[in-house]
Amino acid sequence: MRRISERIHAEIYFWGCNPGFFVTDDGLLMVDTPQQPIDAVRWRERLLEHGPIRHIVNTEPHADHILGNSYFPGVEVIGQRGMEARYLETIPRMQGVERVETMKETDPDSVWLLNHPEYPPNPPTRLFDDELTLELGGQTVRCLHVPGHTAPQTAVFFPGEGVVFTGDNVFHRVKTFIQEADPWQWLEALQRIAALDAAVIVPGHGEPCDNGYLKEQAAVLEGWIAAVEEFVRRGLTEEEALREPAPDVDPYPIGQRLFPSVDRVNGLNVSNIYRRLIARQEA
Ligand SMILES: [Zn+2]
Repeated sequence: MRRISERIHAEIYFWGCNPGFFVTDDGLLMVDTPQQPIDAVRWRERLLEHGPIRHIVNTEPHADHILGNSYFPGVEVIGQRGMEARYLETIPRMQGVERVETMKETDPDSVWLLNHPEYPPNPPTRLFDDELTLELGGQTVRCLHVPGHTAPQTAVFFPGEGVVFTGDNVFHRVKTFIQEADPWQWLEALQRIAALDAAVIVPGHGEPCDNGYLKEQAAVLEGWIAAVEEFVRRGLTEEEALREPAPDVDPYPIGQRLFPSVDRVNGLNVSNIYRRLIARQEA
């Protein structure tokens, strides 16, 4: 667990995303939840030493940010309007027999906690459209809709601490996943994050960083767009583009055990951007 500022801690080394929490005199607000059940319950034990947990904000609908919600029963979950449906679609898919069997190999300590009756799904129920400002224990928290990496992407900004959690709009020196993103919106999102002028950015994955990294994150996205534009310009079909050598535009390795296969992520990135470029041509 890393101390980020006076009132904020985050964990950088779980399998999955970087969850964090904010301590106030009236309890805690969490940002995202650990994806592995055993990590989630251990995380909960540590958080409760700081006070009762009042809220969870999910920054995005990808499984590694939301799967742990279940292990905080009764805690209100906050999310952008698009989050509820995505959560309800993801959870049954991720708790089926297949994941149980995989988990016996990859994380046996978690198996008994999966589909446990005390830990039912805990979807976002407090929804917002553009922005939600919360006051907790005399402290301010701003939840901002900043679409990019996903459509309901949310940044959680703590103005009193100078800290922002971006979810996966920032991958700090780990491989950038563009599997469903609108990369042009994402570039705008990075400008909006920069304008917050936070001293510390807690990214979705990788070590905390600052505004200086946002240009590099933008360059990775621009590199992907340009590489796939070149496939389109050459008249390649999507299938042909996928058979090309993967664009060498992202210098960083996959972080936090997200997926075993770099090739799979590269393929998802190419397909998504290819389809979006064709749609823009046709528009
Ligand atoms: Zn993500």
